[in-house]
Amino acid sequence: MRKPFVAGNWKMNKTAAEATALVQQLLPELHYLSSVEVVLCPPFTSLTAVRDLIKDTGIGLGVQNIHWETSGAYTGEVSAKMAAELAQYAIIGHSERRTYFGETDETVNKKTLAALMAGLTPIVCVGETLAENEAGRTVEVVSRQVKLGLAGLKPEQMQDVVIAYEPVWAIGTGRAATPEGANAVQRDVIRRLLVEIFNQRTADEMRILYGGSVTGENAKELFAQSDIDGGLVGGASLKPDFVQIVKAAG
Ligand code: PEP
Repeated sequence: MRKPFVAGNWKMNKTAAEATALVQQLLPELHYLSSVEVVLCPPFTSLTAVRDLIKDTGIGLGVQNIHWETSGAYTGEVSAKMAAELAQYAIIGHSERRTYFGETDETVNKKTLAALMAGLTPIVCVGETLAENEAGRTVEVVSRQVKLGLAGLKPEQMQDVVIAYEPVWAIGTGRAATPEGANAVQRDVIRRLLVEIFNQRTADEMRILYGGSVTGENAKELFAQSDIDGGLVGGASLKPDFVQIVKAAG
């Protein structure tokens, strides 16, 4: 049985004071929901404030990016090892990073390996763009991203990896994938590929999240699907709606 998992990606939102206010608002409703693994991913500058507030609640803390080198002349970057001083999870290869910051399947792979080395659980994002979807290339694109992003990983490392299927056309658009459509990609493409690359048991145990305009309204139907083990939530994680989403996963 895979434990449901819901992560909130705050993107570049919330100062430390605003983050504090949001967590204080969410916490009374969230901390007792032990049937769901809940992770908050604020910007780096709010990590300490959020960490202090969620201490002893069972809620996890994640970063939105890491660099694969441990240290060195990489101005503006934060290594996995540094992130691991504060957080337990790292979002890797989010489509916004692929689109705006030149991330590739190769950098996603390096970051995934670096996260594991540092003891962070990587949340590896994959998903096709609207043009790729309309051109019927979803299977090809998602398969390539999974294969290259996870290249070189051993089956025993995969229990510490979470995959998020996030069709780019659904992120921040208010147009979520249909539950059946998302489940088809997660079951027939991603999980099937995990069986091929690793083995049946590893594939069965791995959490595959759906991300893309998840709300308090559509979460239950999405999470009821056989191969949607929770969500990576952007916009709605900045609102009380996030509590509804977490409850829908439990
Ligand atoms: C995301 O940021 O990963 C995301 C899925 O955003 P949204 O929920 O706003 O579509």
